[in-house]
Amino acid sequence: MSRDINNKFWDEELETLPREELEKRQLEDLKEIVKFAYENAPYYKRSFDEAGVKPEDIKTLKDIQKFPFINKKTQRDTQGVGSFLGELAAVPEDDVVFISTSSGSTGVPTMSPFTKKDFDEFQDTESRWFWQIGMRPNDRYVHALNFSLYVGGPDVIGAQNLGALCIWGGTLPSERLLFVLKTYKPTVIWTSPSYAWQLGEKALKSGIDPKKDLNIKKIIVAGELGGSIDATRKAIEDIWGAEVYDFYGLSDIFGACAAMCEAKDGLHIAENHILVETIDIHTGEILEPGEVGELVFTTLRKHARPLIRFRTGDIGRIDNTKCSCGRTHGRIHILGRKDDMFIVSAVNVFPSDIEAVIREQDGITGEYLIRIFERDFTNKYAVEIEKNSDNPKTDEEVAAEVSAALKARIGVKPARVVVHPDGGLDTRSEHKSKRVIDERNLEYVI
Ligand SMILES: [Zn+2]
Repeated sequence: MSRDINNKFWDEELETLPREELEKRQLEDLKEIVKFAYENAPYYKRSFDEAGVKPEDIKTLKDIQKFPFINKKTQRDTQGVGSFLGELAAVPEDDVVFISTSSGSTGVPTMSPFTKKDFDEFQDTESRWFWQIGMRPNDRYVHALNFSLYVGGPDVIGAQNLGALCIWGGTLPSERLLFVLKTYKPTVIWTSPSYAWQLGEKALKSGIDPKKDLNIKKIIVAGELGGSIDATRKAIEDIWGAEVYDFYGLSDIFGACAAMCEAKDGLHIAENHILVETIDIHTGEILEPGEVGELVFTTLRKHARPLIRFRTGDIGRIDNTKCSCGRTHGRIHILGRKDDMFIVSAVNVFPSDIEAVIREQDGITGEYLIRIFERDFTNKYAVEIEKNSDNPKTDEEVAAEVSAALKARIGVKPARVVVHPDGGLDTRSEHKSKRVIDERNLEYVI
């Protein structure tokens, strides 16, 4: 399909639907997908029956609130049960053309299956986001995201379908990536925010001024919060002399859930694919748009594995007011993860993983303190522990042991391990010990 490159919309009718009409379409799709899930996915049949709800109960969008939540654990518990795809899947394996999987750094990796139609719609949505930030067929695009198993890998097809010249960069070493940027002069690149910053710094150190010697006009970032933090985004923009846009995908759904527009005031969510609710983190009570809570997504059109009321674990708020760009789809503002999870070198780290290592280690008390901090826009973590008084090893030896054990378990070693004598940590004094101290920009923290 050829589009007028001067039209700011990829699909003008869809993107500017009056809210009433958008919600009418959502309701039609919701009715269909809930029925489809109930009739084809064993898990939903069982859980809806147990909750005493049935697909016919959906008469308005709000009726989704009668249905039970699912979460990551539901995915893990049902995966591989009864069939390869498991009990949440609603189609036979033969209808599935692609699966992506989560990193699985904290347990069994969960897979996300796509039918051909699911996959094509995923890519059409991605094309829409690329178009939204101004990518056009005359752009050259470098996709510098991991291709292996990662749901963000195939997003490059969205750019290709749009007509841009695509370079499948993947996770190239920096030197080679800079060579590509210098030689082919691409105009758009997608990478993580911390890497965008590091790459810019690396370029400067090697005598390349990204502003003068390269031709990058737009940088898409995802996978970390940085792109939604004004200071981080502006720092990247300053190095590159380019516009930075934050995108948001979920391995559980697809790589194209939401994206910034030129207003850079939250991320438009593909409301034709995803019905968003916000709930109280602790009570599960449903919140009003604008209130901060856990985002709960219902996939409206994904048939391989519909997710009905999936608790994303992401904390944020939804804004359904019309954006200055003219799009009517609501925007989400993501503030962080519900858990204390933090990301170091693109690895998801949970304090509970660290605790598990500390508690297993001989010669230390098991008391610990985790400090999460930021250096050069990259997350780091440090661990403080206590050495047993009868431990003959030096502090350095103990620190090295703990550091190696953490690296082995988690995949990334701490920036430092501080060894205190027995009783040297303050963690026991409080009723409920605070063992994680987040020293990053407060905007990261809820
Ligand atoms: Zn907008």
